[in-house]
Amino acid sequence: MRVVVLGAGTAIPARGHSPAGIYVNVRGEHLLFDAGPGTAQRLHQAGVSLWQIDRIFLTHAHVDHCLDLVSILFALRIPQPVRTKPLTVYGPRGLTRLYRQLNAAFHRWLEPRTYRLTLSELDETTRRFHGYTITTRWMRHSTPALGYRIEAQGKRVAYSGDTDVCDNIVRLGRGADLLILECSHPDERKIAGHLTPTEGGQIASEARCKHLVLTHFYPVFRGYDIRRRVRRAYQGRLTLAQDFTSFRLDGFDSHQAGVIIGSGRNVHPQYPTQEEDHT
Ligand SMILES: [Zn+2]
Ligand SMILES: [Zn+2]
Repeated sequence: MRVVVLGAGTAIPARGHSPAGIYVNVRGEHLLFDAGPGTAQRLHQAGVSLWQIDRIFLTHAHVDHCLDLVSILFALRIPQPVRTKPLTVYGPRGLTRLYRQLNAAFHRWLEPRTYRLTLSELDETTRRFHGYTITTRWMRHSTPALGYRIEAQGKRVAYSGDTDVCDNIVRLGRGADLLILECSHPDERKIAGHLTPTEGGQIASEARCKHLVLTHFYPVFRGYDIRRRVRRAYQGRLTLAQDFTSFRLDGFDSHQAGVIIGSGRNVHPQYPTQEEDHT
């Protein structure tokens, strides 16, 4: 399994920290989790074509997680190259209405011409695909929001999308090889519906995940020691993501494959601290 964080930020522009998006390659399928603004472009930069994507899983209908669904569906409608591969978009209740409203707003330019588009609204469930499963749980956020877990060949990756502290994210992340959690605001500036570094550490500790990856950093973190807060509760592997931080999960371990294009690390080393801790 290969995992690439395409956007480690939020709706607020920040170099190296773009709106949410995660690419997962599992058992030969190409999956996209969330599609915040610019995800289509960063997917291309990560070496993946939009025409390869099999399934898109949206956590919720906030702009920083789903706006590029518009860009993607519009691009796939352009005559060349021709897409024939079916595409399924999954998300919480309201997905179909969202699509209809967006399609109407853009004068029906999101409708597929050469491929089959399926919209699938999910509740809490486990779906079996070709050699892998996807499990969903409701998160605690200001709008209906799902967290996802991907399991294949004994490996587990869980992704919170946006959430506050809840039992479901601990359940999703239980024993995960990679637990990708949002981390929006410092401890001292907690906002309901989102996590702080200390809360992220507590969830990771409770879930006993093997590797915690934090993402969705608001610029308010500039100069803030995230790592120290996480370490109060969690001593396992920890990565503070930036755009294009990627991971490979093979038969033995998860390891960070490094930033796959030059972005961030040398440009803004202080926001937030990026070095992977190998403890
Ligand atoms: Zn949100
Ligand atoms: Zn968000």
